[in-house]
Amino acid sequence: MNKKTQLIHGGMTTDPYTGAVTTPIYQTSTYLQDGIGDMRQGYEYSRSANPTRSALEGLIADLEQGTHGFAFGSGMAAISAVMMLLDKGDHLLINSDVYGGTYRALTKVFNRFGIEADFIDTTHIDTVEQYIKPETKMLYIETPSNPLLRVTDIKKSAEIAQKHNLISVVDNTFMTPYFQNPLALGIDLVLHSATKYLGGHSDVVAGLVATKDVDLAERIGFIQNSTGGVLGPQDSYLLIRGMKTLGLRMDQVQRNTLAIIDMLQQHQAVKQVFHPSMSEHLNHDIHQAQAEGHTGVVAFEVADIESAKQVISKLQYFTLAESLGAVESLVSVPALMTHASIPKDIRQKEGIADGLIRLSVGIEGTEDLVADLTQALDTLN
Ligand SMILES: *Cc1c(COP(=O)(O)O)cnc(C)c1O
Repeated sequence: MNKKTQLIHGGMTTDPYTGAVTTPIYQTSTYLQDGIGDMRQGYEYSRSANPTRSALEGLIADLEQGTHGFAFGSGMAAISAVMMLLDKGDHLLINSDVYGGTYRALTKVFNRFGIEADFIDTTHIDTVEQYIKPETKMLYIETPSNPLLRVTDIKKSAEIAQKHNLISVVDNTFMTPYFQNPLALGIDLVLHSATKYLGGHSDVVAGLVATKDVDLAERIGFIQNSTGGVLGPQDSYLLIRGMKTLGLRMDQVQRNTLAIIDMLQQHQAVKQVFHPSMSEHLNHDIHQAQAEGHTGVVAFEVADIESAKQVISKLQYFTLAESLGAVESLVSVPALMTHASIPKDIRQKEGIADGLIRLSVGIEGTEDLVADLTQALDTLN
């Protein structure tokens, strides 16, 4: 099935109880039992299951080519549920430029429960095996990563994980299931901050997990119900609504992004551009092989922090804000915003220069975005 068709017809599309064409918001916490333990449609209590959330969970399972989906109150709640698969004393390997919230949860929360993480360079996948210890139980990657869009080989990650009996996890937030399907490449669990492209309208905070492994699905479902970080029916509805146009949005995001990169590469005020679509990108070939398109997150470097501030002050259509993946274009300076808590020397070692600017390209008209960035950069000359 074409992915655009699947976005409309995946999961549970028509309400089975009323025939409503859109999934209704089942704003209820509990359900009638005809006799003790005799539920009409299996629904008992909305932490365990809710029809609106079930429709969304079916949709993400289909889109990621899995069999089971799970919806959480945020991306971090989804990531935390995945980490809870681990036991005290277990160890995991994770890319060093992982999302800041994931880093914080692992180093300030899960460490207290005896779960140890090593943050490593996964872009050179052949070096990963040397970090595996007897306690290692999980290999977790984000590709492309933030803010320098580094790419990790998904298939090889899955192979290494299989060989060493590790649970393999991909944070697929930057790519969306429209452009990249890690489960089809052998990965065990795929997760999303649905706050970003899946919701797509900067109006929902949510997280999703999908798998086709029955045992892992059972364990994630048990953790979801036991620890309770579920997504409510109203937000589940909003996500389903947003996801219907994911394909249209990503097509326009990609078109805009490639046009912007084309301009940035030619502009004399730009020192460097970071995006996996570029042939000079370290793992460009791997990205081309494992993905069907490109994220709208792109980073580029200008001379210094003052230049970066000046460019941002001149932009009209790029809103200065954290987050990414929505219809409106956003801009941020990682060194002063998302990555400000990382000490400067470590930041620079990781390649996050002070003059680095990160864009999340939206779905506005291509010419307007290119013209806006061009005029802002021209003021540096
Ligand atoms: C935003 C983000 C998260 C966290 O998701 P929330 O919905 O903000 O909790 C995790 N991973 C990536 C790659 C993100 O961009």
